Amino acid sequence: MLRTKPSNDWPIESRVARLLAVAPPCDMVHTPSSLRHKITRIPEVRTLRVSEIFFSLQGETSRIGLPTVFVRLTGCPLRCGYCDTEYAFYGGEGMSIPAILDEISGYAPRYVTVTGGEPLAQKECLTLLRSLCDTGYSVSLETSGALDISGVDVRVSRVLDIKTPGSGEVEKNRWTNLGHLGSHDELKFVLCDEADYQWAVAVMRERRLDLICPILFSPVYGKLDPAMLAAWVLRDRLPVRLQIQLHKLLWGEGPGR
Ligand code: SF4
Repeated sequence: MLRTKPSNDWPIESRVARLLAVAPPCDMVHTPSSLRHKITRIPEVRTLRVSEIFFSLQGETSRIGLPTVFVRLTGCPLRCGYCDTEYAFYGGEGMSIPAILDEISGYAPRYVTVTGGEPLAQKECLTLLRSLCDTGYSVSLETSGALDISGVDVRVSRVLDIKTPGSGEVEKNRWTNLGHLGSHDELKFVLCDEADYQWAVAVMRERRLDLICPILFSPVYGKLDPAMLAAWVLRDRLPVRLQIQLHKLLWGEGPGR
């Protein structure tokens, strides 16, 4: 086969076409550096299904009260009886990671929280979390504790639920996740009643959870009286933080808060 060497007198498109015809189809390895910008792979577009992106005050954890951008990803494999984000189980909008970053940057935040649903149910969530950290945000992740967190960027503060019997999903707890937590993470028990409280205290003591990271006790909104939970925590001298969801006190229940 006659192979004519591309001449510098040829138009650039002709030189590129000729090189593509004779080079291995995969990439630029043998391509002159002057032409590399013309022969690149089309990058894979990674998308996530996003239920909502909004700017609000962080309502929970040690970051409570801080202005934060929330990225709520669609979908969750659990069905807790007290779930307040059922609207995020389905629907949402497909967004690329650059598009998500672009929307977040419009708020110029310092803090970003990725939540759900269960955000880790979408595998590209790990890439999103890494990208958010690389961009310079202080990032937290709210996760059910049912899925593996070992791949989450270590710069992310993981807020891991431990599901109680009252949630209806206690058997979904992935206990091996505890081995991946550090002092900048947090463990959260959402408590439905006194039976849940007693169960949480037993688990905490048995597994020495207070030596791993801060522990949050949170009453189910409208179901367990926060004052009663406060009395139990003080009575039992527990090394936990009682938290009430600030956003619900301020604005009640509903999307976008
Ligand atoms: S893990 Fe969270 S989002 Fe999923 S059902 Fe339970 S409370 Fe709702």
